[in-house]
Amino acid sequence: MGEFDLIRRYFQRPARRAALGVGDDCALLAPAPGMQLAISCDMLVEGRHFFADVRPRLLGHKALAVNLSDLAASGARPLAFTLAISLPRADETWIGEFAAGLLELADQHDCELIGGDTTGGPLNISITVFGEVPSGQALLRSGAQPGDEIWVSGHLGDARLALVALQGHIRLPAALLEQARQRLETPTPRVALGLALRGIASSALDVSDGLLGDLGHILELSRVGATVDSRLALPLMAAAAYPATASWRLEAELQQQCTLAGGDDYELCFTAPAARHAAVLAAGAASNTPVTCIGRIEAQAGLRVIGADGALLQPHWKSFDHFDAD
Ligand code: ADP
Ligand code: MG
Repeated sequence: MGEFDLIRRYFQRPARRAALGVGDDCALLAPAPGMQLAISCDMLVEGRHFFADVRPRLLGHKALAVNLSDLAASGARPLAFTLAISLPRADETWIGEFAAGLLELADQHDCELIGGDTTGGPLNISITVFGEVPSGQALLRSGAQPGDEIWVSGHLGDARLALVALQGHIRLPAALLEQARQRLETPTPRVALGLALRGIASSALDVSDGLLGDLGHILELSRVGATVDSRLALPLMAAAAYPATASWRLEAELQQQCTLAGGDDYELCFTAPAARHAAVLAAGAASNTPVTCIGRIEAQAGLRVIGADGALLQPHWKSFDHFDAD
């Protein structure tokens, strides 16, 4: 099967919202009046972001999910995306499964595939998403103010726990591994929460590299500091509720590291004025997303973390960085 048959068969569908979709030199997309386009691009590379033997259906899901997560963090509604993919071979079973996982999540968010590029080469997937947000209402990293509360959505740390287990560093009970692995392989982009937080959150981002490191981006761009209470953050790891067995228990140090510095969760971390506490809870309820307040923005620069004993913690681990020497 040649390149063009492959595209027609697996990636071309009738355009819906777009004025022109797959098949021409460019797709055409008209932003609605009064809206800004929100655009983001994320690349997944074999061996870096996923294992070579990952199920293609899950990979299709994750490739789009991590991009939708960026729209969620901006408070933007998904519109469309492009897919650039390089494939070692035209394995139709693989491509069919990949497309199924990708397009299933796309349909859930009414986000249409409007174009892309297909080449041979090492497995590599790059998606660009387009969303819309009323002009001036996008959630930015730069808006946090002293006194604001710091919130996170859902669970934190389970994706990293799965990664550490799959890499063979620790052993997990089978049921827990399965649960954690789902968080790693099929993350849920918090799109509905992002939309519900428009006009409420003062800043937001999605946690892809680890809570403390990602929160650090908000602090830097907002020129503020913060205190995070790990006693509020640590229970957010779903595995923390998992009962110890004779041969396994969740080590405190590992739990801390996964929750505070583990990546790949794609939860939202955001700030909001303390006076909007009830509004944040209502946004969480309206979007069916748990939200938890874990700290405060302060004028004093730097990030302080309160440990389990109430004293300041000195974490020696950091968030993930592709070009970090250690
Ligand atoms: P060009 O050579 O003009 O860049 P291509 O031959 O690469 O165009 O692609 C033909 C059409 O198929 C274009 O509309 C392009 O957007 C679309 N396309 C190519 N690969 C993909 C893909 N993986 N998913 C969706 N659309 C694709
Ligand atoms: Mg091309």
